[in-house]
Amino acid sequence: MRLPLLRLLLLALLSLAPIAAAQQLALQHFGQKEGLGNLSVNALAQDQQGYLWAATENGLFRFNGAAFRRYAAAEGLPEQIVTAVYSDRAGTLWVGSYDNLYRMHQGRLLPLAADGKALPVWPGQTMAQTAVGDMLVISRARLFAVTGDSAVARHYFSAAQLAQQPELASVRAIYADPDGTLWLSCKDAMCHATRDGIVRYGEAQGLPAGPWTSIARDAGGALWVRSARRVFVLRPDADRFEDRTPPGDQFRKTHVRTELHADGDGRMLTNGDPGLMRWEEGRWQAFGQRNGLNGAGGVTDILTDHGQGTWLATRGRGLVHWLGYGNWENWTTAQGLPDDVIISMLRDRDGHMHVGTRSGHALMAADGSRFDVAPTPPELAGHQWASMQQDRQGRIWAGTYSGLLMRYLPDSGKTELVTRLPLVTQIIADGKGQLWLATTQGLYMMPESAPAGAAAQRAPLPDVAGHDPTAQVVHGCTDRLGHLWFVGGDDILHYDGATWRILPFGAHTGKADLTTVACAPDGSLWAGSTDTLWRLQVRGAPAAQRVDAAVLRERAVQMLYTDSRGWLWVGTDAGFAVWNGKRWRSVNQSLGLAWDDINGRGFYEDRDGSMWIATSNGLSHLARPNRLFDAAAPHAVLEDTLRGGDPVRLDSGALEWSSDPLVFRLASLAYEDRQGLRYRYRLAGSEQQWSVTAAPEVRYAALPGGDYRFEYQAINSASGDQSPLGQVTFSISPPWWRSYPFYALCGAAVLLGFWGVHRYRLRAMTLRQIELAVLVQQRTRELELSQEELRMRALKDGLTKAWNRGAVMELLEREIEKCRRTGESFVLVLLDLDFFKRVNDTHGHLAGDAVLVEVARRLKEATRPYDAVGRYGGEEFVVLMPGLTLPDGAHRIEALRQDVRAIPVDIGGGKLLQVTASFGAAAFTPRHQPGAMELLRLADESLYASKHAGRDRISYAPASIPTLATHC
Ligand code: GH3
Ligand code: MG
Ligand code: MG
Repeated sequence: MRLPLLRLLLLALLSLAPIAAAQQLALQHFGQKEGLGNLSVNALAQDQQGYLWAATENGLFRFNGAAFRRYAAAEGLPEQIVTAVYSDRAGTLWVGSYDNLYRMHQGRLLPLAADGKALPVWPGQTMAQTAVGDMLVISRARLFAVTGDSAVARHYFSAAQLAQQPELASVRAIYADPDGTLWLSCKDAMCHATRDGIVRYGEAQGLPAGPWTSIARDAGGALWVRSARRVFVLRPDADRFEDRTPPGDQFRKTHVRTELHADGDGRMLTNGDPGLMRWEEGRWQAFGQRNGLNGAGGVTDILTDHGQGTWLATRGRGLVHWLGYGNWENWTTAQGLPDDVIISMLRDRDGHMHVGTRSGHALMAADGSRFDVAPTPPELAGHQWASMQQDRQGRIWAGTYSGLLMRYLPDSGKTELVTRLPLVTQIIADGKGQLWLATTQGLYMMPESAPAGAAAQRAPLPDVAGHDPTAQVVHGCTDRLGHLWFVGGDDILHYDGATWRILPFGAHTGKADLTTVACAPDGSLWAGSTDTLWRLQVRGAPAAQRVDAAVLRERAVQMLYTDSRGWLWVGTDAGFAVWNGKRWRSVNQSLGLAWDDINGRGFYEDRDGSMWIATSNGLSHLARPNRLFDAAAPHAVLEDTLRGGDPVRLDSGALEWSSDPLVFRLASLAYEDRQGLRYRYRLAGSEQQWSVTAAPEVRYAALPGGDYRFEYQAINSASGDQSPLGQVTFSISPPWWRSYPFYALCGAAVLLGFWGVHRYRLRAMTLRQIELAVLVQQRTRELELSQEELRMRALKDGLTKAWNRGAVMELLEREIEKCRRTGESFVLVLLDLDFFKRVNDTHGHLAGDAVLVEVARRLKEATRPYDAVGRYGGEEFVVLMPGLTLPDGAHRIEALRQDVRAIPVDIGGGKLLQVTASFGAAAFTPRHQPGAMELLRLADESLYASKHAGRDRISYAPASIPTLATHC
């Protein structure tokens, strides 16, 4: 009797306790290491742009998915403890401290006042925004309103209202209902402020005394209120609150604030002693340390971000991101599994979930709260359950890596050994009573009806040259026609329900070792060799096509699976990839998966379409696979533009040129799936090529002046998804040495330079020309002179400088010609020095030369300018005297004789010598016109006559002076 009573008591107790949610939460913690300087977070908000804000005990922090930025005294927030943060619909951020209420304006916090006093804000649900956009704030338990960007808050309730309802002066929480009304806690009750007035909800409406510190409405329209110890709900259309306090005394500990939060799926979350409590399907679930949630001093605030991600503010453990909230459940040894290494999964006909682990078989508890190790005989326990298959009788067959083929009998809960085989990798039931067993030593068959102890037979494969029936067969699938396909080496084994065939694919896959296969809905096969995913055409002519997907690059393909949707699931060494026929999606721990190493059979589709995923560190359950493809596209914002460490504004005119680099800080305000996050950018105006970087900072050093457009976007390198292109345009004014005036100046200087050079060259050229002209003139003159000299030299006698004989002959000819023409007369005189031989003999040749020179000089001196004195030869001279007639001109010839003889000639050495000459003269007259030779002969004869007559005298040719005597 005692036992049933105890049981009843236990059951009663159990019904009072909330269900401890069994899953292992995928949580990502953010703390000091990530830049969140203080780990006690009082409040969370997400602004319109997407930034997350955390109000902590030491400053306000802004988080952009990659880094935290602290806002404190420098931004106008001198108080360390920040109690509240709220983002209104217009995107304005409101921040509270124990001393002040602030509004953020252009990155600075500006305090507000009411009645000339500051507005202290205590932690809790202290802010709301009305339907018309006014901000409501609770300060010192009074409700204030702020309109627009006023710096002054006004009392929300009039003095008359407060006098009438003093409870309105004791407000702890405020909630602006989407229906346009307000709910607020008023002293120990709740007040509902509508257009028609304020309705109070208290004991009379089933609501015990508060104070009520949190208010929320769930998706079903019920209003929830929370006090330190109680949760009450007012259902829609109900007029009384009902108690919904979690059973089991979960609110014993005091929290800095209570929190109620409706999640995106219509569930209500609240903070409690275990950590977090969630109302779901009519009961409370608790999440705490057992689920990996270490809330330390408690959860203070809960936030659902724009991407449906869930964030928890904790007291002492910083900020917690619950990855894959609502879509992922993970299970590990902490939830009763015998091992964290999961190999196979199976939902049996009765709805029980079986999991094959590295340490045997486990079954999910009926309430889904945990797993229990299935009772197994000791000799069969603890084996690696590689594959499970339920037969037509409902028995579950399991093959292990140790080669055991076992059978679990659900009715009795017993497990029996059927037979031993080589290492079993997969069991497939063909639906006709036959089990096919893939092992490391080939394919085996076993009828479902076999008794325990029956030996397995080798599959009846055809004898094909080149195929070794004992070679490893790793993996198989069943297609939509019920045909079986297995891979082993580079062969495909095909069973159409009657016969086996072998399709060799080595020639098509380059002898790749195929290790996994999945049957595609179109009758083709997906197959994987370690580094390649193949599409195999198995109907008609065999063909293999390599599948090139960015999500699989550099990943090892470990396991393939096709589900009822026709999607392909590819397990890799770094998470998995899913192909929905149109797009790939890459999934890993950052999205909520238990672990990145996909293990064993990899995937299993549950009856509801949800997926179970085996990893080497836990079992994952993906509740809504469709959501994988809803994932928000990456998001990109240009957070800051800096130069020399200072922010610069690009929209207010051209930037001055500077050698400091221009730095663009990018951020992606999407908080899930950041592993493949990259930024793609370029600076149009400077570069045409796009660059891709994982670092969110882009630098451009010393950009030259000009117009630019910085274009950027975030991309998911795994999925290829990309954010819309963001861009910002700006100009940089050129440095003075690159400005147009300077260029103009340079141009002018260059022109001036050219002109100067041109002028200089012109001048130089002119000068040179003048010089040349002078030179030419000079040279010409010199040439002329030298020619004249040459000519003279040719005509004159070298010693006496008198005309030489040739010249005398020419002059004579010309004179004769002239006189013949004009009828004029002239006289030709020939003279020869007397006894000149003696001079030479006595005084030497030099003395003789001196006499010759002196005689020639005297002759020239004594004659008229137009007379010509020539040396006829030796010591003979000739004198041509134009215009002279005889005897009229005889005195002139006599004068010549006198000049020769009158003064002794100085022959050097102090010696003087008297010289005489004998003369012969002949005249040319109009009447007597001899030729040159004749005239010379006449003169010479006369000279000879003078010599003969005693020398030193003049003789005249008779024809010249018919009447004249020869001498006087
Ligand atoms: P005569 O009175 O008969 O003319 O007697 P002469 O000595 O002058 O006779 P002749 O005509 O025989 O002599 C001429 C001399 O003049 C011979 C020669 O040595 C000399 N003689 C001719 N030409 C030059 C000359 O250029 N320089 C010198 N020193 N002597 C010259
Ligand atoms: Mg002579
Ligand atoms: Mg002589």
